[in-house]
Amino acid sequence: MELRAVGNPTDLKGLSLEEMERLVADHGEPAYRGRQLFHWIYARAAHTFAEMTDLPIGLRARLAEHTLIGALTLLAKEISRDGTRKYLFGCTDGRQIETVLIPDERRLTACLSTQVGCALACAFCLTGKMGFIRHLQPGEIVDQVLALQRDLQPGERIGNLVLMGMGEPLHNYDAIVKALTILSHPMGLAYPPRRITLSTVGLVPEIVRLGQSGLGVNLAVSLHASTDELRDRLVPINRRYPLKELMVALRAYPLPSRRRLTFEYVLIDGVNDRGQDAQELVRLLRGLRCKVNLLPLNEAHAIPFRRPSRERVESFQRILRSADILATIRESRGLDISAACGLLATETNQKSLDTTGCLT
Ligand code: SAH
Repeated sequence: MELRAVGNPTDLKGLSLEEMERLVADHGEPAYRGRQLFHWIYARAAHTFAEMTDLPIGLRARLAEHTLIGALTLLAKEISRDGTRKYLFGCTDGRQIETVLIPDERRLTACLSTQVGCALACAFCLTGKMGFIRHLQPGEIVDQVLALQRDLQPGERIGNLVLMGMGEPLHNYDAIVKALTILSHPMGLAYPPRRITLSTVGLVPEIVRLGQSGLGVNLAVSLHASTDELRDRLVPINRRYPLKELMVALRAYPLPSRRRLTFEYVLIDGVNDRGQDAQELVRLLRGLRCKVNLLPLNEAHAIPFRRPSRERVESFQRILRSADILATIRESRGLDISAACGLLATETNQKSLDTTGCLT
């Protein structure tokens, strides 16, 4: 990579280790300087070149002249009654994204966005209502984690990363792979791949590529229906990649030992929550090493569906369990601040997206 002229400086945040090594080589420096730079940017979250005291002053000056260390701007932070924190970040082009930090008894889970908006238009998802605005760059994905880490209380640690915020990660495949490589790199942020989960609506070719990539992150699939007829309506991409193709790809997915695929299933009153739907789901998943996360729908004005009663949710779960399928009911977290699944949406016609699921 060539160093670009001042005026169009390269953003170091988002560069891979190899790219940093090449960048310093362009300055006549040995590769290990690239490794030091990588460590400063990601593991030590440096904001300035002045901090990088073990790099030669001359190199730091040249880096300062030709490159920059990009960062998201924290615009707002809301804290839910249940402790969930929602962050609104501004990108350098003025676009906005949301990132959520979810505490449980033992650790924090960071829920990252991968795009501004989303192109997939699932019928019950507010991000989908925004439409697709743009992909996030690798640096913008990684910086969500760095920004959250900066905001932690003493003693807090982020234990899990989930790509379950705004956007469809596999639609932004190359950026995601690069970001995940940096996030999991021992010299970068060092999150073990088994602590990272990528959630997809089911883009089959990219699922296959992800399996071949050797990244080793967990895969979650947003299923929501067990027949093409219903899934076509709820998850429009199903028309391109119908269930049969999706399940063939998932059955062939190279799962590391002792790991399971996760299926997410949003339960919608009277639409996909009947006993018959549960039976069909059992049939579809037979023999797969998997677990099912049941998500009772989070409601909003712009979403033309209702959440089923607790009773219906539990009876759906019972049918799965009696067929020996691991099934958990995922409690909505951060509902009072619209931080729950499917409720992330920025910079649109916010009025029409106002949630009704508010607890306040
Ligand atoms: N695009 C990816 C990543 C987003 S993950 C995917 O679809 O998997 C966000 C999860 O929240 C998905 O499982 C999505 O289907 C679910 N979701 C969307 N809208 C929701 C809503 N209104 N209530 C509950 N879950 C919802």
